[in-house]
Amino acid sequence: MPVPQNSTPSAATSGTHIAVENLQIHYGTVLAVRGVSFTVEQGEQLTLLGPSGCGKTTTLRAIAGLEKPTSGEIRIGGAPVYSSARKVNLPAENRGLSMVFQSYAIWPHMTVFENVAYGLRVRRESKAEIEAKVDRALDMVQMRPYRDRRASQLSGGQQQRVALARAFVFSPSVLLFDEPLSNLDAKLRGDMRIELRELQHRLGITSVYVTHDLEEALAMSDRIVVMRDGVIEQVGTPNEIYNLPRNAFVADFVGSANLISGRHRADLDTDGLVAIETAGGDIVYGSAYGRPIGDTATMSVRTVHFKFSTQRPAGERNVWPVKVDRMVFQGDFTQVHVTWSGQHLVIRCAALEPTEGAHDAFMSVDPRRVVLLEAEKAGA
Ligand code: ATP
Repeated sequence: MPVPQNSTPSAATSGTHIAVENLQIHYGTVLAVRGVSFTVEQGEQLTLLGPSGCGKTTTLRAIAGLEKPTSGEIRIGGAPVYSSARKVNLPAENRGLSMVFQSYAIWPHMTVFENVAYGLRVRRESKAEIEAKVDRALDMVQMRPYRDRRASQLSGGQQQRVALARAFVFSPSVLLFDEPLSNLDAKLRGDMRIELRELQHRLGITSVYVTHDLEEALAMSDRIVVMRDGVIEQVGTPNEIYNLPRNAFVADFVGSANLISGRHRADLDTDGLVAIETAGGDIVYGSAYGRPIGDTATMSVRTVHFKFSTQRPAGERNVWPVKVDRMVFQGDFTQVHVTWSGQHLVIRCAALEPTEGAHDAFMSVDPRRVVLLEAEKAGA
């Protein structure tokens, strides 16, 4: 049922490129990363997504070699670059990767060329080699025409392109991105997302991308790792993360969702669907997607998946009368706030003329869009 969201085919070939195993990182007594494990495949774009303070930047910096973990292992191309057990901790410059930061950290008084050439000069590469490599990197980000311009005379987007060229110039095997677009305005950010994604695919370069921006993560990633409080909550494709969130945290963080809880009515389970009864006595049919269901259960429904109508729609299951509390016109869509079964829900409808005042209407939802969440672990 879930529909693929990214039409560009994955550039990933085969084999694990980066493996992070049971990574723990302390800052003093604070445990910022609590035993995180994931892999990044060759040519894959993997995104670490989560709210501020969840440990995504710390994890990225540990891969880069800028943060020393407390324990665990990180392998790049099969070789450990950090391992507490084997007492390995390779310096950042020997890990074969480049990093692009939120603040572009380019030198305003230098030209575009000098900015990109700087790292190669430090490595004492020949003049001819530097010229060729810098021009190739500038071509990749369409900045060759600005080669001799001072960085201070560039727009924010152009400066970020220079920062990208500076990362590409070393032909790294891995690119790490720490919120590289967050200083750009919304329009430019949208354009740069597409550009970056296409570039990453074209070059087939393995990358790890950190962001707290959901849209960015959904649009750019082959897979997403959702983090909270130093642990991983879910790993999956954008489609899986959005359509089959594991728990209430992911459902809520990854897009807007309504949560509906109730007791399992096994006697009403039918046609591969599971039924719950809400505290208000309404029966809701949903899909378990192979997940076990307990005596009580919580289901998640995206605000866009509810259907709203003033006439009772056809069908018996998952059709309910609702009281409309408020309709908020938001341009591309209208947000309808309703009271149903003793709780408040939000429905997002396209192109609906809002009506004033409270009134009665109907709400319905396809049971395949009502997703059973995993039971929360005790203490989670
Ligand atoms: P953000 O999006 O705000 O950057 P994040 O998910 O990247 O958040 P981290 O920066 O990795 O989170 O921080 C994880 C935890 O470690 C937070 O609780 C943070 O306060 C703490 N932390 C990060 N850097 C340090 C530091 N240098 N010293 C002490 N604590 C730190």
